[in-house]
Amino acid sequence: MTKERIVILGSGPAGLTAALYAARANLEPLVVSGTQLGGQVSITYEVENYPGFPEGSTGPELVERMQKQAERFGARLVVDEVVEVDFTQGPPFRLKTYSDEYEAQAVVIATGASPRRLGVPGEDQMIGKGVSFCATCDGFFFRDKHVVVVGGGDSALEEGLFLTRFATQVRVIHRRDALRAGETLKRRALANDKMSFVWDTVVEEIVGNGKVEAVRLRNLKTGAVERTPADGVFIYIGHFPNTDLFRGQLAMDDHGYLRTDARLMTDVEGIFAAGEVMDPVYRQVATSVGQGAAAGMMVERWLANRE
Ligand code: NAP
Repeated sequence: MTKERIVILGSGPAGLTAALYAARANLEPLVVSGTQLGGQVSITYEVENYPGFPEGSTGPELVERMQKQAERFGARLVVDEVVEVDFTQGPPFRLKTYSDEYEAQAVVIATGASPRRLGVPGEDQMIGKGVSFCATCDGFFFRDKHVVVVGGGDSALEEGLFLTRFATQVRVIHRRDALRAGETLKRRALANDKMSFVWDTVVEEIVGNGKVEAVRLRNLKTGAVERTPADGVFIYIGHFPNTDLFRGQLAMDDHGYLRTDARLMTDVEGIFAAGEVMDPVYRQVATSVGQGAAAGMMVERWLANRE
């Protein structure tokens, strides 16, 4: 059993920034990386909207810099994944990873969220090669191209509208004949000349050889199958916060996002949360960094008051 003052779960921008702030307060936080070192941004080809990088940065480079900066002040990172937590008693709180067990006086949860996937052939293989879950990140690369957006909710329409700034044509593929999205977005999307809608239809396959070339669609009412050329496929069928591990132990909203107060503390004293695991709205590197900084400051203050 390793005893730690602060354990941070997740190594995306929120976790690494919480680590930076806690490290600069001399707390030597331990970051448990999670499955994806660097989080979602590490699979983003280019980040052009993170302030301070006028030329942009690749996602991996950006998180690598964040990691180095946190480590420079004494944060430690282990590449491991938490498999069990006990927040019902403590502090100290108990956490089990694949290779170790920890006792922590305080915990920052920054395990992020994962975009839902379609689960169709071609999808996994062409992530970053035309398949994307983030128009804000990747839309720019589809200037004068044809893209399809999958989904009928607010995200699909909002991101689809964003894509019309670049793409010549944005086809929204929705499995029903009525949009789930709210009225305002619906009105704007339906009125946009560059957007068109394919109703009652699902994507059965993303076709391409090294990069997306087409999608195979099936109309659920008629059964008709068509192959539509496309340069990009943006999938917006919802996100899910990575909170399964905390179910029954921490308060969550109806979608599974952790509930936090203004200090970013969950309903358990000493357990904080930052980034997409508690934020269903912004989902940006810049906002996750802000939440990570706040959680890093608050965890330090909370420990200082206790000690
Ligand atoms: P969402 O509201 O859950 O919508 C997901 C969409 O994907 C739905 O249209 C759903 O179809 C479709 N879908 C789900 N699984 C599918 C599958 N396997 N294959 C094909 N289609 C599938 O998710 P979201 O759009 O990400 O929004 C999440 C929350 O954030 C919502 O509460 C939303 O209002 C909010 N949000 C708000 C804004 C805004 O106000 N500007 C922007 C973004 C998000 P069905 O409709 O048939 O279920």
